[in-house]
Amino acid sequence: MNNRIPELYGSMIFSDRIMRSKLPKDVYRALRKTIENGTHLELDVANSVAVAMKEWAVENGATHYTHWFQPMTGFTAEKHDSFISPSGEGEVIMDFSGKELVKGEPDASSFPSGGLRATFEARGYTAWDPTSPAFIKDQTLYIPTAFCSYSGEALDKKTPLLRSMDTLNTQAVRMLHLLGNDTVKRVSATIGPEQEYFLVDKDLYRQRKDLIFCGRTLFGAPAPKGQEMEDHYFGALKPRVSAYMHDLDLELWKLGIPAKTKHNEVAPAQHELAPVFDTANIAVDHNQLTMEMMKKVAEKHGLTCLLHEKPFDRINGSGKHNNWSLTTDDGVNLLNPGRTPAQNTQFLIFLMAVIKAVDDYADLMRISAASAGNDHRLGGNEAPPAIVSVFLGDELTRVLESIENDTYFGKQEKIQLDTGAPVLPHFLKDNTDRNRTSPFAFTGNKFEFRMLGSAASVATPNIILNTAVAESLDQFYEELKDTEPADMDEAVHALLKRAIQKHKKVIFNGNGYSDEWVKEAARRGLDNLESTPDCLERLLTAKSITLFTKHHIYTEDEIRSRHDILLENYVKTIAIEARTMVDILSRDFLPTLHSYTGAVASSTSSKKALLPDLKTDAEEALVRKLSNCYEILADGVQDLKEQLTKTEKEEDLKRSAFLSRNLLIPSLEHLGTAASEAEALIPEDLLPYPSYDQLLFSL
Ligand code: ADP
Ligand code: MG
Repeated sequence: MNNRIPELYGSMIFSDRIMRSKLPKDVYRALRKTIENGTHLELDVANSVAVAMKEWAVENGATHYTHWFQPMTGFTAEKHDSFISPSGEGEVIMDFSGKELVKGEPDASSFPSGGLRATFEARGYTAWDPTSPAFIKDQTLYIPTAFCSYSGEALDKKTPLLRSMDTLNTQAVRMLHLLGNDTVKRVSATIGPEQEYFLVDKDLYRQRKDLIFCGRTLFGAPAPKGQEMEDHYFGALKPRVSAYMHDLDLELWKLGIPAKTKHNEVAPAQHELAPVFDTANIAVDHNQLTMEMMKKVAEKHGLTCLLHEKPFDRINGSGKHNNWSLTTDDGVNLLNPGRTPAQNTQFLIFLMAVIKAVDDYADLMRISAASAGNDHRLGGNEAPPAIVSVFLGDELTRVLESIENDTYFGKQEKIQLDTGAPVLPHFLKDNTDRNRTSPFAFTGNKFEFRMLGSAASVATPNIILNTAVAESLDQFYEELKDTEPADMDEAVHALLKRAIQKHKKVIFNGNGYSDEWVKEAARRGLDNLESTPDCLERLLTAKSITLFTKHHIYTEDEIRSRHDILLENYVKTIAIEARTMVDILSRDFLPTLHSYTGAVASSTSSKKALLPDLKTDAEEALVRKLSNCYEILADGVQDLKEQLTKTEKEEDLKRSAFLSRNLLIPSLEHLGTAASEAEALIPEDLLPYPSYDQLLFSL
């Protein structure tokens, strides 16, 4: 098997190789043109592609096809239709037309639309996205599609992503041409999302209502060991985990997903997978599929994969690092500084465009990582704070300083790394060391956006980044467009200088986890939007709406719909957590606590009856403590129920979100702490669910 990986790789996608072998030459060429340049595809071409696609799919065991799309839930959606078409006399043929390939019409009424579509006009369309390859999974041909309403509003995450890639392409190419680089025809955003996840035993998972309903534990006495020994990070893979990862790689490779790196993460039972980067659109589709496969392959191995941002208290949660760069059609990475960044005008313009974008639209960047789950991580000493800043590293910071101060910055020689051990090979040190605490770090030839939560689609952060960078480039273009070529260097220098002065406040190379940074950021006037309801309203400012409408990413209605869906999702998530907490405590935990208290009390009193002079202080104290816990928890449950009713009665979405944050979350935390403390007093075998010890250390 292992020596056949190159054949296995991509065997389940309708790849370029398959297209070339199955399509008539002119059809193949027309399709390539659409894929590469985004030109319109004629129906007769689509018909021809449909026939070839069906043939290939049927040869590979497919009986059905589906338009696969990404509604605003953040998940993917599919509805399967079989290829069969009755041909009379009780017989069928396998049929698939260009029309069926290009357009679908799922009933859209039950997907969130944030008010974009009333149920009585529930028509929604899916439209084939030829830039992302079709694939076969579970005997079904999957056709990546965009999803929109009858009147053309985007109801999904793919449409705005494609729009943002297009805008960024236009602006980047225009800028390159202005700088004299006129051979470039296309610029694409590339992304490589590193995905963190937890694995727990499936049987144990099935016994935890909080994991089942909320994706995270709502409480739990800490295991005697957490992550303090730092022995899990990059540690040797345990056999069950290793077998899982191997199987997962194979499944992903079949789908043409270039899974590259796998390792254990910081927290016990936590792991990471990183692919080789790809064009934004494809990488987003791949990340959705990767998350799905992670869960599915886990089932086969008797495991459950948790993608929640904070499945367990007191140990690290999971995020997603979005590595992002820009590549030209002739293969140049525009964020590669080369050996002499100070002299690399093109690099400096693009670098500055990104810094400006992040500074100007820091609030939108924050929003792109906002969810109830991720609020547990940001600022929690395991993930960047909610303050958006940029890490550049020493060398680039000095390059920018030299531009700002008109001082000379010469070529920096790379330094040989001296390990002191002569047998080891010698190599050159990187120009930047790593900084793990920055939300947005330059890492040599790309930026790494580290705020994202593990469960969310990476579409939104990339829509925002692409659009904001396109806007920077547009503004730079306007400043430079009338400059004579001979004066360009000087004009660029002056522009960079102005931009550095304006935006250097967002650059921070220090420790992002420290309290000093929170104070320093406030002094610099940077936002610290701590929770989801705090930041979401920024989506609706005139500045945000202007950005999105100017670049045709979202209409104003489309933005409002996203805002409402995000807010609604926040409210619903916390309500589910509150209901689950009430359920577990009243029906499972409190009865256990009650009977254990009773058992200790009666055994203590029967001992006392037998031997009146016996010392039973510790047992009595335990009974008192257990009873106190019971009172606190029972009262807390009552309060939580009342707060939940109040929150759910509130009809204004925004007020309801703030009630969730200000009432429900503190109550959930209070109950979680009290229950964890009580749990630590109860024998493990009496607990109505598996403990942290079992969940985190059983594999
Ligand atoms: P690091 O060790 O700094 O995290 P890696 O080389 O391991 O960097 O890459 C991490 C992720 O970044 C991988 O998914 C990789 O494919 C991706 N990546 C590398 N170069 C680029 C690029 N030019 N654009 C987008 N992603 C990239
Ligand atoms: Mg990384």
